[in-house]
Amino acid sequence: PSEEYENLRRRIYSNTKEIWYFINHELTKLVKDDVQPDKVQAILDQVADRKRSLLSDQEKLQKFDGYEDWRRSEASEVSDLIQKRLKYLQNPPDCRDARKVICNLNKGCGFGCQLHHIVYCLIFAYATERTLILNSKGWRYNNKGWEYVFHPISETCTTAYDDKVVPWPGSILTASYDAKVVSLPFIDSISQKPKFLPLAIPSDLAHRIVRFNGDPSSWWIGQMLKYVLKPRAAMQKAINETIAKMNFKNPIVGVHIRRTDKVGTEAAFHHIDEYMVHVKEYYRTLEMTTHVDKKRVYLATDDANVLQDARNKYKEYEFLGDPSIAKTAATHRRYTPLSLTGLLVDLHMLAMCDYIVCTFSSQVGRVAYEMMQANRPDASDSFHSLDDIYYFGGQNAHDRRALMNHEAGGQEISFQAGDLIGIAGNHWNGFGRGTNKRTNLNGLIPWYKTADHLVLYPFPEYKHIQT
Ligand code: GDP
Repeated sequence: PSEEYENLRRRIYSNTKEIWYFINHELTKLVKDDVQPDKVQAILDQVADRKRSLLSDQEKLQKFDGYEDWRRSEASEVSDLIQKRLKYLQNPPDCRDARKVICNLNKGCGFGCQLHHIVYCLIFAYATERTLILNSKGWRYNNKGWEYVFHPISETCTTAYDDKVVPWPGSILTASYDAKVVSLPFIDSISQKPKFLPLAIPSDLAHRIVRFNGDPSSWWIGQMLKYVLKPRAAMQKAINETIAKMNFKNPIVGVHIRRTDKVGTEAAFHHIDEYMVHVKEYYRTLEMTTHVDKKRVYLATDDANVLQDARNKYKEYEFLGDPSIAKTAATHRRYTPLSLTGLLVDLHMLAMCDYIVCTFSSQVGRVAYEMMQANRPDASDSFHSLDDIYYFGGQNAHDRRALMNHEAGGQEISFQAGDLIGIAGNHWNGFGRGTNKRTNLNGLIPWYKTADHLVLYPFPEYKHIQT
């Protein structure tokens, strides 16, 4: 398929949802304001059903347009190529000679956050053709180190020997750009961020990725996770045993509910009902074409009570999940080795679901989506985030490109076709918020008149590696 065809197909799907967000928001307001509530609610129900029918037909269109096999094989070929390049980078012919970058796994945060720290280091390594050395002694999830839980990220090259380690970026005097061994700061503390950091993707692969995937940046990050996240036999066994106890079958929707220490500090509280609205919509759309015998939900959470609450309240659904995982996560033992198996189970299960409902303010939610992206050719329409749009902590500017002119009304901003708009978020009511980089004005933008602006970076091409 041409890139134009794939873009259009995804755009129509996205804008079908956008028109629904808009109508749903406006009519729900009327119902709340008591403006002919029964009549307006009836209209809302009618529109909702038409929306489901449109989405369902578009999903069929994708299935039957004859390109599904191609999408699958192309995604797996590009993935194989990236994995081979990483393997080569991580296992240089002569380790002593190789240029290296050192990454310390001492970030004082949760597992999702630490995974993203490694991803950032690995992207740095790939961009600068350095072998990544992961220092993880004293790691909070295993005192002995990462390698005791996961396969090491290199089989042959795990030390910088006694070469001098220069902090990157350092000053001009230390010339760390050329140093043989550099060590990396946390991504949050880099003042001038290299352009190869997320959400950028390699230009030599971009023309391929954009055709099979609707969100190439997170797919690229998913590839980094795929390389690093390989549990060792003992951990894999523990994961498999927990999973075997569950009746995991498709169709299934994953729900991630992040509570405890996150609520009120980094994210708002969301009631189970808010998640279930989207689960229900998923199943109602699916039921347009498919007989659904059992509506399954995999529930991952760090709140020990939510699974039982959900089971009591939503009796027509079958909730999968392990209450002991949530209980462990809920206690202060969250950051201990004990909690890691449960979290890996949750991440693995979420990533296998057909669809996830979560909050992207949580790194766990984002990792689940990135893993989902690595599991299939395109998961970019297989989630709903109740709060943030997708991002990578510490990323470079995320812009959208105006596709047509827009005259502002109310709290909106005007733009011309071609303008770049720095994006703050989507309000899921037909509008997002952003700053027009040409006029510097900040305000609401009708989402459907813009499209994601993908940043390409000329990463090294590792030309000698073929699939
Ligand atoms: P964030 O704080 O949600 O952005 O993500 P982090 O990964 O940085 O830290 C959250 C920590 O809470 C995780 O590492 C887990 O230990 C725990 N946690 C959060 N959500 C879940 C969940 O659904 N299941 C399990 N098992 N643990 C969770």
